[in-house]
Amino acid sequence: MANIIDGNKISQVIRNEIKEETERFKIDTGIVPGLAVMLVGDDPASKIYVKRKENACREVGFYSREYKLPAETDEKTVLSMIDELNRDPEIHGILVQLPLPGHIHSAHIIEAIDPAKDVDGFHPVNIGRLLTGRPCHMACTPKGIMELLDRSGIPIEGKEAVIVGRSNIVGKPLFLMLLARNATVTVCHTKTKDLAEVTRRADILVAAAGKAEMIRGEMVREGAVVIDVGINRLDDGRLVGDVAFSEASPRSSFITPVPGGVGPMTIAMLLRNTLDAARRSRKDP
Ligand code: NDP
Repeated sequence: MANIIDGNKISQVIRNEIKEETERFKIDTGIVPGLAVMLVGDDPASKIYVKRKENACREVGFYSREYKLPAETDEKTVLSMIDELNRDPEIHGILVQLPLPGHIHSAHIIEAIDPAKDVDGFHPVNIGRLLTGRPCHMACTPKGIMELLDRSGIPIEGKEAVIVGRSNIVGKPLFLMLLARNATVTVCHTKTKDLAEVTRRADILVAAAGKAEMIRGEMVREGAVVIDVGINRLDDGRLVGDVAFSEASPRSSFITPVPGGVGPMTIAMLLRNTLDAARRSRKDP
């Protein structure tokens, strides 16, 4: 039977560490790490995420500023606000909650954020630095997955890792992070032929497809580590991952539950990136 990786517990440990580091940082420098969160429109899920981020900031002693803009706000207005935030010394991290309303191009918005303040790690400069192994802000969800692996004592070097999903925010950056740690990485997508044959090779299997319980037990190699990124709401209201947990867990050595696995790590990594941005702001005026 698998060890359950408790993302709630691990993320709480990280938040406590960040809180202590922030207290010390404030005493040493007089700087309060500041995060600006921008929400355009009133998507209910986005509202919940923004609220959680704000609360998490308060809990670790950051300064947080929230901008709630109506859905009809035009791109130019958002861009000019970002421009102001880029120059605001109280703000070290800028996060624009995605998805944005259809008339705003998220690529334009992401590229307008100063890479030093891009705590989501989505700016092409940060992606390029990740690709070339240079210091950068790394996307929070894949960075959280790496923390889960490390803090659970799971070796990565030389392992066969398979990621199902190639999005810019999860699959692709995770590919780079696992590769940098010397895993042999395969990335699967909807055109992958015989997915089960590929996933069965994995020592570390990451499901990030957004398809409820698509990873069945027989797709998991005996003893594999299974990381489930998916968050899917079923018609009956239940929240499930991309992995059929009851089938996969008897075959795995470690597995993350949904909820309470990868999810809580994302905000913890946002806090980590914001504190790092505040630290770097002293060296890189
Ligand atoms: P996207 O929809 O952007 O990407 C999904 C990827 O999965 C695509 O690359 C797609 O392939 C691939 N895919 C979909 N269906 C299949 C299939 N049947 N077989 C193989 N590959 C498939 O999703 P995201 O990366 O944004 O999110 C993935 C999941 O993770 C979602 O459930 C989301 O809610 C969750 N999530 C959770 C987070 C957290 O904090 N825990 C944070 C971010 C996301 P193709 O490219 O060919 O279309």
